[in-house]
Amino acid sequence: MTLRIGIIHNQEEKSILVLQRLRGLLADKDDLEIVERDPELVITIGGDGTLLSAFHRYNHRLNEVRFLGVHTGHLGFYTDWRDYELPELVDSLSGEQGKSVSYPLLDVVLTTRSGDQRHFLALNESTIRKGSRTMVADVYIKEELFERFRGDGLAISTPTGSTAYNKSVGGAVVHPSINAMQLAEIASLNNRVFRTLGSPSIIGSHEWIDVRLKSNEEHLITIDQLDIIRKDIVSIKYRIADERIHFASYRHMHFWHRVKDAFIRED
Ligand code: NAP
Repeated sequence: MTLRIGIIHNQEEKSILVLQRLRGLLADKDDLEIVERDPELVITIGGDGTLLSAFHRYNHRLNEVRFLGVHTGHLGFYTDWRDYELPELVDSLSGEQGKSVSYPLLDVVLTTRSGDQRHFLALNESTIRKGSRTMVADVYIKEELFERFRGDGLAISTPTGSTAYNKSVGGAVVHPSINAMQLAEIASLNNRVFRTLGSPSIIGSHEWIDVRLKSNEEHLITIDQLDIIRKDIVSIKYRIADERIHFASYRHMHFWHRVKDAFIRED
């Protein structure tokens, strides 16, 4: 059986060199084929941002595609392989049994004032902010009003996204085996008049969050690398998606080792 491989890379000089080496190594294997359409395995060359782009390119085929990241900068959270390990990587692909590990995704539904709905999947997170002045939003968890939020905005992240924007706004780092999403505040107003929980919350996979916005005011909604700026969004509903992202599990990387490597180790 031939394994159909797609390659997505960024434009860094180092990534282009890695791309050329990878193409050469794959060409030597009879059971590995580089394809432009309908890959079964997508190899990204670059950083976590490159893998995020690849995810959005193939997010309509998540059950048929596995991902694998080669990093050409620092060790990433979605990129396990280093450039000098390419021969070992290609050998491990040849004759492999299609094993994978999967992680949760965020399901996002935007509703406009006229009732139109748009559906998205996020691998890292979705954020809601306002262009200027304080954002006011009612946050529902399931059908119950949880709090009226006032502040700069809200970030809702997946476990694998917990080390990205979520961490910068004081959210917890969550092990990716936990099937849950995290709601974190971005500079909430808390005083004698306005009150929010004030700490990040982990919401279970059987629950959902509905953020209801004041319509007629411009909001910036991000979904990973995508920016949506609109005045007519009245509700953004979040839950853990039915779909998951599958990574080719040719090697096991200890998650907390990766966290230490990214944020603590000084050498
Ligand atoms: P970017 O502004 O070019 O890069 C943002 C940084 O976030 C890069 O260093 C990227 O790593 C890193 N990153 C992405 N996903 C990560 C993850 N799951 N865990 C830890 N670090 C991660 O933006 P981009 O490349 O288009 O990626 C968009 C993502 O950047 C967003 O989803 C958001 O999470 C993150 N971001 C974070 C902040 C912040 O922390 N203040 C601000 C803007 C965006 P690589 O260098 O390996 O690509």
